[in-house]
Amino acid sequence: MMESALTARDRVGVQDFVLLENYTSEAAFIENLRKRFKENLIYTYIGSVLVSMNPYRDLEIYTKNHMERYRGVNFYEVSPHIYAVGDNSYRSMRTEGKDQCILISGESGAGKTEASKKILQYYAVTCPASDKVQTIKDRLLQSNPVLEAFGNAKTLRNDNSSRFGKYMDIQFDFKGAPVGGHIINYLLEKSRVVHQNHGERNFHIFYQLIEGGEEDLLRRLGLERNSQQYQFLVKVSDNNYTDLNSQVLMTLNQTVLLTFPQLVSPLNLEQASSARDALSKAVYGRTFTWLVNKINASLAYKDDSSKHYSVIGLLDIYGFEVSKTTGNFEQFCINYCNEKLQQLFIELTLKSEQDEYEAEGITWEPVQYFNNKIICDLVEEKFKGIISILDEECLRPGDASDITFLEKLEGTVGGHAHFVTHKLADGKTRKVMGRDEFRLLHYAGEVNYNVNGFLDKNNDLLFRNLKEAATQFKASLAKLMEILMSKEPSYVRCIKPNDAKQAGRFDEVLIRHQVKYLGLMENLRVRRAGFSYRRHYEVFLRRYKSLCPETWPNWQGKKQDGVATLVKHLGYKPEEYKMGRSKIFIRFPKTLFATEDALET
Ligand code: ATP
Ligand code: MG
Repeated sequence: MMESALTARDRVGVQDFVLLENYTSEAAFIENLRKRFKENLIYTYIGSVLVSMNPYRDLEIYTKNHMERYRGVNFYEVSPHIYAVGDNSYRSMRTEGKDQCILISGESGAGKTEASKKILQYYAVTCPASDKVQTIKDRLLQSNPVLEAFGNAKTLRNDNSSRFGKYMDIQFDFKGAPVGGHIINYLLEKSRVVHQNHGERNFHIFYQLIEGGEEDLLRRLGLERNSQQYQFLVKVSDNNYTDLNSQVLMTLNQTVLLTFPQLVSPLNLEQASSARDALSKAVYGRTFTWLVNKINASLAYKDDSSKHYSVIGLLDIYGFEVSKTTGNFEQFCINYCNEKLQQLFIELTLKSEQDEYEAEGITWEPVQYFNNKIICDLVEEKFKGIISILDEECLRPGDASDITFLEKLEGTVGGHAHFVTHKLADGKTRKVMGRDEFRLLHYAGEVNYNVNGFLDKNNDLLFRNLKEAATQFKASLAKLMEILMSKEPSYVRCIKPNDAKQAGRFDEVLIRHQVKYLGLMENLRVRRAGFSYRRHYEVFLRRYKSLCPETWPNWQGKKQDGVATLVKHLGYKPEEYKMGRSKIFIRFPKTLFATEDALET
């Protein structure tokens, strides 16, 4: 017996959150995610945003048949899928001629990199190809393992964690065939080369080289086939770091993977270790940049006869990091980046809603939302923002230190509503905070940052660009925002179901946390502020025409008139819907469900 639409919805939830009756309820949102996750339905929409749950198991949903199913099909006519997002962007690029970008976000282990690879594979299989194009497709796909070898590492959260942010442009010619690509990388976590937390590893490439490199190669490099030999490759915990340094001294005859014997100079142990580490990080950083440049050279679009191409950009960037422990400079940069992306998301989501209403001739009712511009300004404003103050301290000769930087912050942004330190306004101190910490009230939650290392690490980013005194990271983020703003965005929001990397486990606390900081409830509220559902007249009519004798089997006149006849027959009340220029807008999910249920009876 066929399951009725009603029971099916009960069991597997709704495939678009806008259809939730109680759309302001976080509990209802989570419950819908749970139902779908249980059925291995890992994808759900919020309008055009794709929410993706990491299944931690291989699902049979990425076959060539699946790719064919999503190719050229209307976004909402098939069940939610990462391929639908890929296809939709591709078709918009082809039909509207506008560059696209797909922004993939989520915390470590949520499935961002896997999602971006799925999209790339989708294009490799479904886009038109010629011999030359085939080479580019292969190179695009093959750039991933190389970049991952040098840029990914096993961490506690993810066995294959990307330790750099990546923006990749795929270039298409006028026939829609991929003809080139370009990669921009952000903030490689260079410190991992010399130090890994307990249970984590160095970048994959070191182990691959030592375990898999040919004898001859290893001999030439003076390496042994045993990663345990090398201090940079075995866990170094914070506690025994000093011990380890002495050990280095007692042994430094031992071959260390990155050894620089010429560096022996009159330095004490601490200075020597820190010089060794700084050099190792710098060498690794440059190697990575060199690698990205090499890949870019091999992906460059070389056809001079036609410089014109369209672009789909894929952004796979580290998500917001809120942890119970205090954050460092890298986390500060990562969270700032996410703050900017959230700003972009808010602006563009609201704008696209507004644009659509305008285009359809429907009155726009303004929506209240939290604008995080105030936090972005706190971080990046010229002269007064945290980064400006940091740059200033870095460039100031004399006694500048992490602590003087913090004092400057207190003096400049101390009264800001989103900034907190141990000092209270009445001169007393806040006991729960360290004297070397500041707290930012991010849109996604509060994070404490320890200022230790801020000056050094910022100097590291600054050194190439000293003349402008503009922090490189801030400048590269501004450039990224510019790139993204010039394109039409699609969003994939990835969620990690549990911390144990296990299939089938739905950790509600962890998930609720992500729903919050991905801003999904806010996103849904904006999407539902007016109408929960909208469809092109043609699509609506095709699906429901059998419910009315006048539209079945075919409506001969204008599609809009057909839909008007159909909803009149179904008894829609005037306050339940509006007719736009090309789409019908339905205010409440229950109206649509009643129509869906009528199809079943
Ligand atoms: P990070 O920020 O640490 O780089 P990430 O969001 O890029 O994390 P991924 O590396 O994409 O996370 O995913 C982590 C792991 O989860 C993958 O190695 C894979 O085992 C599993 N995974 C993610 N997405 C899927 C999927 N769609 N199907 C099956 N397994 C998946
Ligand atoms: Mg990743």
